[in-house]
Amino acid sequence: MSDIKALKEQLFYTPKNGLKTADDKLLGEIATYCEEYKKFLDDAKTEREAVKTALDMAKKKGFTEFEYGKKYNVGDKVYFNNRGKTVAFAVIGEQAIDNGANITAAHIDSPRLDLKPNPLYEEIELALFKTHYYGGIKKYQWAAIPLSLHGVFALKDGSVIEVCIGEKDDEPKFVINDLLPHLATEQSKRTLNEGIKGEELNVLIGSHPFKDDDASELVKLNILNILNQKYGINEADFLSAELEIVPAFKACDIGLDRSMIGAYGQDDRVCAYPALTAILKVENPEKTAIAILADKEEIGSMGNTGLESDFLRFVIGDIAKCQNVDPTVALRNSKCLSADVNAALDPTFQDVSERRNASKVNYGVVVTKYTGARGKSGTSDAGAEYVAYVRNMLDNAGITWQTGELGKVDAGGGGTVAQYIANMGVDVIDLGVPVLSMHAPFETTAKFDVYMCYRAMYEFMK
Ligand code: MN
Ligand code: MN
Repeated sequence: MSDIKALKEQLFYTPKNGLKTADDKLLGEIATYCEEYKKFLDDAKTEREAVKTALDMAKKKGFTEFEYGKKYNVGDKVYFNNRGKTVAFAVIGEQAIDNGANITAAHIDSPRLDLKPNPLYEEIELALFKTHYYGGIKKYQWAAIPLSLHGVFALKDGSVIEVCIGEKDDEPKFVINDLLPHLATEQSKRTLNEGIKGEELNVLIGSHPFKDDDASELVKLNILNILNQKYGINEADFLSAELEIVPAFKACDIGLDRSMIGAYGQDDRVCAYPALTAILKVENPEKTAIAILADKEEIGSMGNTGLESDFLRFVIGDIAKCQNVDPTVALRNSKCLSADVNAALDPTFQDVSERRNASKVNYGVVVTKYTGARGKSGTSDAGAEYVAYVRNMLDNAGITWQTGELGKVDAGGGGTVAQYIANMGVDVIDLGVPVLSMHAPFETTAKFDVYMCYRAMYEFMK
Protein backbone atom coordinates (compact mmCIF):
# COMPACT_ATOMS: atom_id res chain seq x y z
CA MET A 1 0.00 0.00 0.00
CA SER A 2 1.34 3.43 -0.88
CA ASP A 3 1.84 6.00 1.86
CA ILE A 4 -1.04 8.09 0.56
CA LYS A 5 -3.37 5.12 0.41
CA ALA A 6 -2.44 4.15 3.94
CA LEU A 7 -2.95 7.69 5.18
CA LYS A 8 -6.37 7.81 3.52
CA GLU A 9 -7.28 4.49 5.12
CA GLN A 10 -6.26 5.94 8.47
CA LEU A 11 -7.99 9.32 8.16
CA PHE A 12 -11.05 8.91 5.93
CA TYR A 13 -14.46 7.64 7.03
CA THR A 14 -15.56 5.19 4.34
CA PRO A 15 -18.73 3.12 4.89
CA LYS A 16 -18.58 -0.25 3.13
CA ASN A 17 -21.03 -2.66 1.52
CA GLY A 18 -21.08 -5.45 4.10
CA LEU A 19 -21.84 -8.20 1.61
CA LYS A 20 -18.48 -7.66 -0.12
CA THR A 21 -16.61 -9.15 2.81
CA ALA A 22 -19.29 -11.42 4.34
CA ASP A 23 -17.97 -14.99 4.68
CA ASP A 24 -19.99 -18.18 4.24
CA LYS A 25 -20.54 -18.58 7.98
CA LEU A 26 -22.10 -15.12 8.24
CA LEU A 27 -24.15 -15.63 5.07
CA GLY A 28 -25.49 -18.87 6.53
CA GLU A 29 -26.50 -17.16 9.78
CA ILE A 30 -28.22 -14.40 7.81
CA ALA A 31 -30.15 -16.87 5.65
CA THR A 32 -31.34 -18.90 8.67
CA TYR A 33 -32.36 -15.79 10.61
CA CYS A 34 -34.29 -14.27 7.71
CA GLU A 35 -36.31 -17.45 7.05
CA GLU A 36 -37.70 -17.11 10.59
CA TYR A 37 -38.17 -13.37 10.08
CA LYS A 38 -40.33 -14.01 6.99
CA LYS A 39 -42.52 -16.40 9.01
CA PHE A 40 -42.94 -13.72 11.68
CA LEU A 41 -44.01 -11.20 9.02
CA ASP A 42 -46.69 -13.61 7.75
CA ASP A 43 -47.94 -14.45 11.27
CA ALA A 44 -47.97 -10.90 12.60
CA LYS A 45 -49.52 -8.46 10.14
CA THR A 46 -51.22 -6.32 12.80
CA GLU A 47 -50.20 -5.00 16.22
CA ARG A 48 -52.51 -7.48 17.97
CA GLU A 49 -51.10 -10.42 15.99
CA ALA A 50 -47.54 -9.22 16.66
CA VAL A 51 -48.18 -9.09 20.43
CA LYS A 52 -49.72 -12.55 20.33
CA THR A 53 -46.88 -14.04 18.28
CA ALA A 54 -44.24 -12.33 20.42
CA LEU A 55 -45.85 -13.57 23.66
CA ASP A 56 -46.00 -17.13 22.31
CA MET A 57 -42.29 -16.97 21.49
CA ALA A 58 -41.39 -15.36 24.83
CA LYS A 59 -43.35 -17.78 27.00
CA LYS A 60 -41.41 -20.64 25.42
CA LYS A 61 -38.23 -18.89 26.60
CA GLY A 62 -39.47 -18.61 30.19
CA PHE A 63 -41.04 -15.14 30.25
CA THR A 64 -43.97 -14.77 32.69
CA GLU A 65 -46.40 -11.92 33.29
CA PHE A 66 -45.02 -9.31 35.70
CA GLU A 67 -46.61 -9.49 39.16
CA TYR A 68 -46.50 -6.31 41.18
CA GLY A 69 -44.85 -6.74 44.57
CA LYS A 70 -43.12 -10.00 43.69
CA LYS A 71 -39.38 -10.28 44.31
CA TYR A 72 -37.41 -10.73 41.11
CA ASN A 73 -33.86 -12.01 40.82
CA VAL A 74 -31.08 -11.54 38.28
CA GLY A 75 -32.00 -13.19 34.99
CA ASP A 76 -35.75 -13.34 35.68
CA LYS A 77 -37.80 -12.76 32.54
CA VAL A 78 -41.09 -10.86 32.63
CA TYR A 79 -43.54 -9.20 30.27
CA PHE A 80 -46.08 -6.38 30.51
CA ASN A 81 -49.03 -6.78 28.13
CA ASN A 82 -50.79 -3.48 27.42
CA ARG A 83 -54.27 -4.32 26.04
CA GLY A 84 -52.88 -6.87 23.59
CA LYS A 85 -51.51 -4.08 21.38
CA THR A 86 -48.26 -3.05 23.06
CA VAL A 87 -45.95 -5.35 24.99
CA ALA A 88 -42.76 -4.87 26.99
CA PHE A 89 -40.32 -7.66 27.78
CA ALA A 90 -37.74 -7.31 30.55
CA VAL A 91 -34.80 -9.41 31.76
CA ILE A 92 -33.79 -8.36 35.29
CA GLY A 93 -30.17 -7.22 35.50
CA GLU A 94 -27.40 -7.76 38.05
CA GLN A 95 -27.52 -4.08 39.03
CA ALA A 96 -30.66 -2.50 40.48
CA ILE A 97 -32.63 -0.59 37.89
CA ASP A 98 -31.75 2.84 39.33
CA ASN A 99 -28.38 2.25 37.65
CA GLY A 100 -30.37 2.44 34.42
CA ALA A 101 -31.95 0.01 32.00
CA ASN A 102 -30.97 -0.73 28.40
CA ILE A 103 -34.17 -0.27 26.39
CA THR A 104 -34.99 -1.09 22.79
CA ALA A 105 -38.25 0.29 21.41
CA ALA A 106 -39.77 -0.72 18.08
CA HIS A 107 -43.31 -0.37 16.79
CA ILE A 108 -45.63 -3.10 15.53
CA ASP A 109 -48.36 -1.04 13.90
CA SER A 110 -48.04 -0.36 10.17
CA PRO A 111 -49.89 1.82 7.65
CA ARG A 112 -53.17 0.15 6.66
CA LEU A 113 -56.88 0.70 6.10
CA ASP A 114 -59.18 0.53 9.14
CA LEU A 115 -62.88 -0.26 8.68
CA LYS A 116 -65.11 2.68 9.61
CA PRO A 117 -67.46 2.11 12.61
CA ASN A 118 -70.37 1.64 10.18
CA PRO A 119 -68.54 0.09 7.22
CA LEU A 120 -70.91 -2.25 5.37
CA TYR A 121 -73.05 -1.08 2.44
CA GLU A 122 -74.49 -2.23 -0.85
CA GLU A 123 -74.25 -0.31 -4.12
CA ILE A 124 -75.52 -1.56 -7.52
CA GLU A 125 -75.85 -5.07 -6.07
CA LEU A 126 -72.26 -5.23 -4.80
CA ALA A 127 -71.30 -5.25 -1.11
CA LEU A 128 -68.42 -3.07 0.12
CA PHE A 129 -66.63 -1.85 3.25
CA LYS A 130 -65.92 1.83 3.87
CA THR A 131 -62.39 2.38 5.23
CA HIS A 132 -60.40 5.11 6.95
CA TYR A 133 -56.70 4.90 6.27
CA TYR A 134 -54.26 4.67 9.20
CA GLY A 135 -50.81 6.21 8.96
CA GLY A 136 -49.05 7.78 5.99
CA ILE A 137 -49.99 6.00 2.78
CA LYS A 138 -49.94 6.76 -0.95
CA LYS A 139 -53.60 5.90 -1.43
CA TYR A 140 -53.33 4.86 -5.08
CA GLN A 141 -50.98 1.99 -4.08
CA TRP A 142 -53.84 0.22 -2.30
CA ALA A 143 -56.08 -0.29 -5.34
CA ALA A 144 -56.09 -3.48 -7.42
CA ILE A 145 -54.03 -5.61 -5.01
CA PRO A 146 -55.24 -8.63 -2.99
CA LEU A 147 -56.27 -7.66 0.55
CA SER A 148 -57.06 -9.51 3.77
CA LEU A 149 -59.16 -8.67 6.83
CA HIS A 150 -57.73 -8.87 10.38
CA GLY A 151 -58.91 -7.76 13.79
CA VAL A 152 -61.54 -8.24 16.45
CA PHE A 153 -65.21 -7.81 17.24
CA ALA A 154 -65.61 -6.88 20.92
CA LEU A 155 -69.12 -7.82 21.99
CA LYS A 156 -71.35 -6.27 24.64
CA ASP A 157 -71.03 -9.38 26.83
CA GLY A 158 -67.27 -8.79 27.13
CA SER A 159 -66.22 -11.52 24.72
CA VAL A 160 -63.78 -10.77 21.91
CA ILE A 161 -63.95 -12.56 18.56
CA GLU A 162 -60.79 -12.72 16.47
CA VAL A 163 -61.00 -12.34 12.71
CA CYS A 164 -58.43 -13.25 10.06
CA ILE A 165 -59.64 -13.86 6.51
CA GLY A 166 -57.58 -13.90 3.34
CA GLU A 167 -54.19 -15.20 4.49
CA LYS A 168 -54.54 -18.92 3.76
CA ASP A 169 -54.31 -20.04 0.13
CA ASP A 170 -57.87 -21.42 0.07
CA GLU A 171 -59.44 -18.36 1.71
CA PRO A 172 -61.17 -15.56 -0.21
CA LYS A 173 -59.43 -12.20 -0.47
CA PHE A 174 -60.71 -8.66 -0.99
CA VAL A 175 -59.90 -5.80 -3.37
CA ILE A 176 -60.28 -2.07 -3.93
CA ASN A 177 -61.13 -1.55 -7.58
CA ASP A 178 -59.54 1.12 -9.74
CA LEU A 179 -60.80 2.72 -12.95
CA LEU A 180 -59.79 1.18 -16.27
CA PRO A 181 -57.29 3.37 -18.20
CA HIS A 182 -59.73 3.58 -21.12
CA LEU A 183 -62.11 5.67 -19.01
CA ALA A 184 -59.58 7.40 -16.76
CA THR A 185 -59.24 10.61 -18.79
CA GLU A 186 -60.58 12.76 -15.94
CA GLN A 187 -58.96 10.68 -13.17
CA SER A 188 -55.57 11.03 -14.89
CA LYS A 189 -55.73 14.81 -14.41
CA ARG A 190 -55.80 14.39 -10.63
CA THR A 191 -52.64 14.82 -8.57
CA LEU A 192 -50.91 11.58 -7.50
CA ASN A 193 -52.15 12.18 -3.93
CA GLU A 194 -55.74 12.24 -5.20
CA GLY A 195 -55.38 9.44 -7.78
CA ILE A 196 -57.54 7.41 -5.42
CA LYS A 197 -59.24 9.60 -2.81
CA GLY A 198 -59.82 8.59 0.82
CA GLU A 199 -63.54 8.01 0.26
CA GLU A 200 -62.72 5.87 -2.80
CA LEU A 201 -60.82 3.30 -0.73
CA ASN A 202 -63.88 1.04 -0.68
CA VAL A 203 -63.25 -2.67 -0.36
CA LEU A 204 -65.26 -5.11 -2.48
CA ILE A 205 -66.50 -7.99 -0.33
CA GLY A 206 -69.37 -9.68 -2.18
CA SER A 207 -71.83 -9.86 -5.07
CA HIS A 208 -74.17 -12.79 -4.36
CA PRO A 209 -77.78 -11.80 -3.43
CA PHE A 210 -79.34 -13.70 -0.48
CA LYS A 211 -82.02 -15.35 -2.64
CA ASP A 212 -84.59 -14.47 -5.27
CA ASP A 213 -86.77 -11.92 -3.52
CA ASP A 214 -88.06 -8.38 -4.01
CA ALA A 215 -86.42 -7.06 -0.85
CA SER A 216 -83.59 -4.53 -1.23
CA GLU A 217 -79.94 -4.92 -0.18
CA LEU A 218 -79.89 -8.68 -0.60
CA VAL A 219 -76.14 -8.82 -1.26
CA LYS A 220 -75.49 -6.99 2.02
CA LEU A 221 -77.95 -9.34 3.74
CA ASN A 222 -76.11 -12.36 2.38
CA ILE A 223 -72.76 -10.99 3.64
CA LEU A 224 -74.21 -10.36 7.09
CA ASN A 225 -75.68 -13.84 7.09
CA ILE A 226 -72.26 -15.34 6.28
CA LEU A 227 -70.64 -13.27 9.06
CA ASN A 228 -73.44 -14.21 11.47
CA GLN A 229 -72.96 -17.91 10.79
CA LYS A 230 -69.18 -17.67 11.10
CA TYR A 231 -68.88 -15.28 14.07
CA GLY A 232 -72.40 -14.86 15.51
CA ILE A 233 -72.29 -11.11 14.91
CA ASN A 234 -74.78 -8.62 13.46
CA GLU A 235 -74.27 -5.23 11.80
CA ALA A 236 -74.31 -3.29 15.09
CA ASP A 237 -71.29 -5.31 16.29
CA PHE A 238 -69.09 -3.43 13.76
CA LEU A 239 -69.55 -0.43 16.09
CA SER A 240 -67.28 -2.05 18.70
CA ALA A 241 -64.84 -3.72 16.33
CA GLU A 242 -61.25 -3.02 15.30
CA LEU A 243 -60.92 -4.46 11.82
CA GLU A 244 -57.94 -3.75 9.60
CA ILE A 245 -57.48 -4.26 5.87
CA VAL A 246 -53.89 -5.21 4.98
CA PRO A 247 -52.21 -6.61 1.85
CA ALA A 248 -52.77 -10.36 1.45
CA PHE A 249 -49.34 -11.15 0.04
CA LYS A 250 -46.74 -13.21 1.86
CA ALA A 251 -43.16 -12.26 2.64
CA CYS A 252 -40.74 -13.49 -0.02
CA ASP A 253 -37.18 -13.22 -1.26
CA ILE A 254 -36.43 -10.44 -3.73
CA GLY A 255 -33.75 -10.66 -6.40
CA LEU A 256 -32.15 -13.48 -8.37
CA ASP A 257 -29.47 -13.55 -5.67
CA ARG A 258 -32.18 -13.73 -2.94
CA SER A 259 -30.36 -10.98 -1.04
CA MET A 260 -33.48 -9.00 -0.11
CA ILE A 261 -36.93 -9.48 1.41
CA GLY A 262 -40.22 -8.07 0.14
CA ALA A 263 -43.22 -7.93 2.49
CA TYR A 264 -45.98 -5.81 3.97
CA GLY A 265 -45.34 -4.03 7.27
CA GLN A 266 -41.54 -4.18 7.48
CA ASP A 267 -41.79 -0.67 8.97
CA ASP A 268 -41.35 -1.51 11.72
CA ARG A 269 -41.44 -5.28 12.13
CA VAL A 270 -37.97 -5.32 10.54
CA CYS A 271 -36.79 -3.76 13.83
CA ALA A 272 -39.44 -5.28 16.12
CA TYR A 273 -38.39 -8.83 15.22
CA PRO A 274 -34.66 -8.17 15.88
CA ALA A 275 -35.50 -6.45 19.20
CA LEU A 276 -37.73 -9.38 20.18
CA THR A 277 -35.34 -12.15 19.16
CA ALA A 278 -32.49 -10.28 20.86
CA ILE A 279 -34.21 -10.01 24.25
CA LEU A 280 -35.25 -13.66 24.03
CA LYS A 281 -31.54 -14.49 23.92
CA VAL A 282 -30.45 -12.20 26.77
CA GLU A 283 -29.33 -14.03 29.95
CA ASN A 284 -28.30 -12.38 33.24
CA PRO A 285 -27.51 -8.91 31.83
CA GLU A 286 -25.49 -6.41 33.85
CA LYS A 287 -28.31 -3.85 33.55
CA THR A 288 -31.99 -4.68 33.20
CA ALA A 289 -32.80 -5.18 29.51
CA ILE A 290 -36.17 -4.04 28.19
CA ALA A 291 -37.65 -4.47 24.70
CA ILE A 292 -40.89 -2.65 23.93
CA LEU A 293 -43.03 -3.41 20.90
CA ALA A 294 -45.39 -0.46 20.62
CA ASP A 295 -48.65 0.41 18.94
CA LYS A 296 -49.78 3.71 17.34
CA GLU A 297 -46.38 4.99 16.15
CA GLU A 298 -47.72 5.53 12.64
CA ILE A 299 -50.31 8.04 13.90
CA GLY A 300 -48.00 9.90 16.28
CA SER A 301 -47.70 7.44 19.21
CA MET A 302 -50.97 8.77 20.63
CA GLY A 303 -53.35 6.90 22.94
CA ASN A 304 -52.85 4.52 25.85
CA THR A 305 -51.05 1.93 23.71
CA GLY A 306 -48.73 4.50 22.08
CA LEU A 307 -45.36 5.50 23.50
CA GLU A 308 -46.44 9.06 24.18
CA SER A 309 -48.39 7.47 27.05
CA ASP A 310 -46.84 6.65 30.43
CA PHE A 311 -46.63 2.92 29.66
CA LEU A 312 -42.80 2.76 29.58
CA ARG A 313 -42.57 5.01 32.65
CA PHE A 314 -44.90 2.61 34.50
CA VAL A 315 -42.94 -0.47 33.37
CA ILE A 316 -39.71 0.99 34.74
CA GLY A 317 -41.54 2.32 37.80
CA ASP A 318 -43.01 -1.08 38.61
CA ILE A 319 -39.62 -2.81 38.38
CA ALA A 320 -37.99 -0.02 40.44
CA LYS A 321 -40.62 -0.25 43.19
CA CYS A 322 -40.10 -4.02 43.43
CA GLN A 323 -36.39 -3.29 44.03
CA ASN A 324 -37.11 -0.40 46.45
CA VAL A 325 -35.26 2.08 44.22
CA ASP A 326 -36.28 5.44 42.74
CA PRO A 327 -38.05 5.16 39.32
CA THR A 328 -36.99 8.71 38.36
CA VAL A 329 -33.34 7.91 38.90
CA ALA A 330 -33.84 4.71 36.90
CA LEU A 331 -35.17 6.68 33.93
CA ARG A 332 -32.43 9.30 34.13
CA ASN A 333 -29.73 6.61 33.98
CA SER A 334 -31.35 4.58 31.19
CA LYS A 335 -30.30 4.26 27.58
CA CYS A 336 -32.49 3.48 24.59
CA LEU A 337 -32.24 2.42 20.99
CA SER A 338 -35.36 3.64 19.24
CA ALA A 339 -35.50 0.78 16.75
CA ASP A 340 -37.05 2.18 13.61
CA VAL A 341 -36.39 2.22 9.89
CA ASN A 342 -34.84 4.86 7.66
CA ALA A 343 -35.25 5.51 3.93
CA ALA A 344 -32.70 3.62 1.84
CA LEU A 345 -31.16 5.46 -1.11
CA ASP A 346 -33.38 4.49 -4.06
CA PRO A 347 -31.57 4.07 -7.42
CA THR A 348 -34.56 5.54 -9.28
CA PHE A 349 -35.36 8.39 -6.88
CA GLN A 350 -31.92 9.50 -5.70
CA ASP A 351 -32.91 13.16 -5.95
CA VAL A 352 -34.73 13.20 -2.61
CA SER A 353 -31.64 12.05 -0.70
CA GLU A 354 -28.32 13.72 0.04
CA ARG A 355 -25.91 10.98 -0.90
CA ARG A 356 -23.25 11.62 1.71
CA ASN A 357 -25.80 11.19 4.48
CA ALA A 358 -28.30 8.72 3.07
CA SER A 359 -28.45 5.10 4.25
CA LYS A 360 -27.78 2.39 1.66
CA VAL A 361 -28.98 -1.16 1.26
CA ASN A 362 -26.38 -3.73 2.49
CA TYR A 363 -24.34 -1.10 4.35
CA GLY A 364 -25.62 -2.43 7.67
CA VAL A 365 -27.79 -1.13 10.47
CA VAL A 366 -28.46 2.60 10.18
CA VAL A 367 -27.90 4.99 13.09
CA THR A 368 -30.03 8.12 12.74
CA LYS A 369 -28.89 10.92 15.07
CA TYR A 370 -31.98 12.99 14.35
CA THR A 371 -35.19 12.78 12.33
CA GLY A 372 -37.68 15.68 12.12
CA ALA A 373 -38.48 18.11 9.32
CA ARG A 374 -37.12 21.47 8.11
CA GLY A 375 -34.90 22.92 10.88
CA LYS A 376 -34.86 19.61 12.81
CA SER A 377 -38.40 20.35 13.98
CA GLY A 378 -39.84 17.46 15.98
CA THR A 379 -36.69 15.47 16.73
CA SER A 380 -34.94 14.58 19.97
CA ASP A 381 -31.48 14.81 18.28
CA ALA A 382 -29.19 12.46 20.21
CA GLY A 383 -26.24 14.07 22.02
CA ALA A 384 -22.72 13.56 20.67
CA GLU A 385 -21.67 11.68 23.83
CA TYR A 386 -24.43 9.14 23.37
CA VAL A 387 -23.64 8.75 19.65
CA ALA A 388 -20.05 8.04 20.70
CA TYR A 389 -21.26 5.35 23.12
CA VAL A 390 -23.27 3.64 20.36
CA ARG A 391 -20.40 3.96 17.82
CA ASN A 392 -18.03 2.34 20.24
CA MET A 393 -20.44 -0.50 21.03
CA LEU A 394 -21.09 -1.29 17.35
CA ASP A 395 -17.42 -1.11 16.31
CA ASN A 396 -16.25 -3.24 19.22
CA ALA A 397 -18.78 -5.93 18.33
CA GLY A 398 -17.82 -5.88 14.63
CA ILE A 399 -21.33 -4.88 13.57
CA THR A 400 -21.58 -3.26 10.13
CA TRP A 401 -23.35 0.08 10.47
CA GLN A 402 -23.85 3.41 8.74
CA THR A 403 -25.46 6.76 9.45
CA GLY A 404 -28.53 8.11 7.75
CA GLU A 405 -30.69 11.18 7.40
CA LEU A 406 -34.31 10.96 6.28
CA GLY A 407 -33.88 12.65 2.90
CA LYS A 408 -32.61 16.06 1.87
CA VAL A 409 -33.02 18.92 4.34
CA ASP A 410 -36.01 20.47 2.59
CA ALA A 411 -37.43 17.30 1.00
CA GLY A 412 -39.86 16.42 3.79
CA GLY A 413 -39.30 14.58 7.04
CA GLY A 414 -40.65 12.28 9.69
CA GLY A 415 -40.38 11.20 13.31
CA THR A 416 -40.17 8.14 15.54
CA VAL A 417 -40.85 7.22 19.17
CA ALA A 418 -37.38 8.56 20.12
CA GLN A 419 -38.72 11.99 21.12
CA TYR A 420 -41.24 10.57 23.61
CA ILE A 421 -38.65 8.37 25.29
CA ALA A 422 -36.21 11.31 25.36
CA ASN A 423 -38.89 13.32 27.19
CA MET A 424 -38.49 10.95 30.16
CA GLY A 425 -34.83 11.89 30.49
CA VAL A 426 -33.55 8.72 28.80
CA ASP A 427 -30.62 8.88 26.34
CA VAL A 428 -32.05 7.76 23.00
CA ILE A 429 -31.03 7.41 19.36
CA ASP A 430 -32.72 5.86 16.33
CA LEU A 431 -31.16 2.67 15.01
CA GLY A 432 -32.76 0.39 12.44
CA VAL A 433 -32.88 -0.97 8.92
CA PRO A 434 -32.85 0.96 5.62
CA VAL A 435 -36.07 0.31 3.65
CA LEU A 436 -36.98 0.78 -0.02
CA SER A 437 -40.61 1.74 -0.79
CA MET A 438 -41.21 2.54 2.88
CA HIS A 439 -44.94 2.70 3.79
CA ALA A 440 -45.93 0.99 0.52
CA PRO A 441 -48.10 -2.16 0.75
CA PHE A 442 -44.94 -4.11 -0.17
CA GLU A 443 -41.65 -2.86 1.29
CA THR A 444 -38.10 -4.06 0.54
CA THR A 445 -35.17 -4.59 2.92
CA ALA A 446 -31.79 -6.32 2.65
CA LYS A 447 -31.23 -9.52 4.63
CA PHE A 448 -27.73 -8.39 5.63
CA ASP A 449 -29.11 -5.23 7.24
CA VAL A 450 -31.86 -7.15 9.07
CA TYR A 451 -29.27 -9.42 10.66
CA MET A 452 -26.99 -6.52 11.61
CA CYS A 453 -30.01 -4.91 13.30
CA TYR A 454 -30.52 -8.08 15.33
CA ARG A 455 -26.86 -8.15 16.33
CA ALA A 456 -27.00 -4.48 17.39
CA MET A 457 -30.12 -5.05 19.51
CA TYR A 458 -28.50 -8.02 21.26
CA GLU A 459 -25.19 -6.23 21.83
CA PHE A 460 -27.04 -3.30 23.42
CA MET A 461 -29.17 -5.37 25.82
CA LYS A 462 -26.93 -8.37 26.63
MN1 MN B 1 -41.43 3.28 11.71
MN1 MN C 1 -43.55 4.49 9.48
